[in-house]
Formats: sequence, structure tokens, C-alpha cells
Amino acid sequence: MRMGQAEQLHGQTARLDARFFSSYFGDDSSHKSSPRRHHGTSSFNDNDSKVRQPPPMAKVQSGATIDALMNFLEQQSGGKGTAPGYSFPHIPATGNLTIGGVLAINGHGTAIPVLGEDICTSYGSLSNRILAFTAVVTDPDGATPDRYAIREFNRGEGDDRAFLAHLGRAFLLDATLEVIDNYNMRCQSFVDISPNVLFQAPTPESSNGHESLMTFLQTTGRAEVLWYPLSDKAWLKVWTVTKSKPHTSTAVKLPYNYPFSHNMSKFQGLFLKTVIHLWPSLTPRFSPHVY
Ligand SMILES: Cc1cc2nc3c(=O)[nH]c(=O)nc-3n(C[C@H](O)[C@H](O)[C@H](O)COP(=O)(O)OP(=O)(O)OC[C@H]3O[C@@H](n4cnc5c(N)ncnc54)[C@H](O)[C@@H]3O)c2cc1C
Repeated sequence: MRMGQAEQLHGQTARLDARFFSSYFGDDSSHKSSPRRHHGTSSFNDNDSKVRQPPPMAKVQSGATIDALMNFLEQQSGGKGTAPGYSFPHIPATGNLTIGGVLAINGHGTAIPVLGEDICTSYGSLSNRILAFTAVVTDPDGATPDRYAIREFNRGEGDDRAFLAHLGRAFLLDATLEVIDNYNMRCQSFVDISPNVLFQAPTPESSNGHESLMTFLQTTGRAEVLWYPLSDKAWLKVWTVTKSKPHTSTAVKLPYNYPFSHNMSKFQGLFLKTVIHLWPSLTPRFSPHVY
């Protein structure tokens, strides 16, 4: 297990299917109106008195994957961040999920606002980035209530609320999502903090040097813990928005930088599946060795 620090500079080489995407990254005010936001809150706020320019946004078909969308966004010109293109404040961990599937369950990554972070955006979930979408719907009050039709919705118009996290009770064709300038993140791994310490109850002292998850979240806003089942071992990853590469970090331009964790061969997967299926009682003895 490599425990060095890695700065995530999302780059891309993948070929993209242009049918999935269209984007509006300019300052063209003719596009759909922007929700008004408070910086650093997780929801749109209609009481904000300042009317802002429309934010950069991308329209994506619901069958596109997170990986494809992130690759597309990073390839766009015009972003003013420290990394090329555009991004989101956070995204789900896995890239082969579809946009339709992620929006259905109100998918998210890990990020809460922290003092000093100069990403001016609302955080929330990916559904909170929706500015508009197209859905297949019926109109019970219309002339043909039994017929399905394609309808476009704008965020804030009313009926849209039922679709933002619909748990599979709707069918979205595409969504227009607000994006932000791309940025660099430093990822640090910690494997020497026991779950007891990591998950200790928050106390007033927690932010004073304790190695609790709360302390890390308060400091950087982004953390993930893999707690190996039936063991006292945990792998904590902490991300910090960082303008330039710390000299101790390794620059990476692609996702999936932990091969031991991300690249299990088909044979290994099948082997583990078979063992778990045939001898589930081995799980407690197997789990500690995964670490
Ligand atoms: C390994 C792994 C890691 C994960 N990590 C995260 C994470 O970090 N953060 C997070 O938030 N979630 C995470 N998830 C959960 C994941 O976001 C959800 O399970 C998501 O719904 C899966 O999307 P999918 O494309 O596989 O859709 P499916 O599993 O095929 O479908 C999920 C639901 O979405 C609906 N749906 C799919 N497409 C559409 C559409 N076009 N219109 C309407 N409804 C649609 C389906 O009807 C179904 O109800 C993870 C899941 C896995 C397997």
C-alpha cells in the first residue's frame, strides 16, 4: 500500500461521445436563469438580493457516466481555476455510475465548506447542481392524460422538485448541471489512526489536535474512511483544495491512483465471490488480511 501523498490533477485521455454533452461556459446571459446562491451553503437561496451572471453549466444525457462527464468537463476551455476546465465541488467515488442513476438517489461525494477555501459555490449533492432537465412524463390534466411526452423543466418552476431525487420513480433524459472552475486537490492517506480515535465522539477539544474524523472535516472539508471489517484498521483519505503541488506530493492526472484498491482482476473477483459464497464463515478470518 503506497502511503504517499498524491495531488489529484484530473486529466484525461479518454475519447468522448459528443452526443452525450453540450455546454454553456460563456457569460451569455440568454441561457437559463441561474439559481441565486449564498457561498458555502448546500441549497439554493431565493432571498439572495444580488442577481448573478449565469454560472457555467453543462447539459448531459442521463446515460453518460460520471467518468465521461468529468473527462468532458476537464477538456473544455475557459475555466479560470488552477486546473484545466470545469468540475463540481465533489462527485461520487465511482466513475462508472450513470448521471441518471446518481441524480435519482441524490448522489454526492465528500465536501463541506471550510474557512479559507475559495471555491465560491453551493455544495450539497449533485442533484443540487441541476438547473434544468428533460423528463418523460404524463399530464393528468391535459387532453391526453394517458400518453407519455417529453417535457423540459427548469429548476425552481415548481413540479421540478419531485424529480431532483426521485428514487427511480421518474425517467430523466438529460440534465443541465451547474459546474465550477476546476481545481487541484491534495490527497493524503493516514493508516496509523485507530477507528477508536477516528470515530471518537466530537468534543470541544476535537478541533484542537485530536485525530478525529470531525477534526479532519473541520480542517479540509473532505475525508473518506475505509474501515476494514472485523479489524481495528482504517484507511483515512483526506483531500485538501491546494493551488500548487506541495513538494512532497506526487502529481497525478488520471483517476484511480490506488491500483491495489481499484484494479482487481476478474479472476480475483471471481475467486473472492466464490469463497464468500461457499464459505461465508471465513469472512472474519479473511477481512483483517485485506488491510
Ligand atoms: C462501488 C460503488 C460506489 C458508490 N459510491 C458512491 C458515492 O461515493 N457517492 C454516492 O452518492 N453514491 C455512491 N454509490 C451509489 C450510486 O451512486 C447509486 O447506486 C446510483 O444510483 C447508481 O447509479 P447507476 O448508474 O449504477 O444506476 P442503476 O443502479 O442502474 O439505477 C439506480 C437507480 O437510478 C434510476 N435511474 C437510472 N437512470 C435513470 C434515468 N435516466 N432516469 C431516471 N432514473 C434513473 C434507476 O431506475 C434506479 O432506481 C456507489 C455505488 C457503488 C456500486
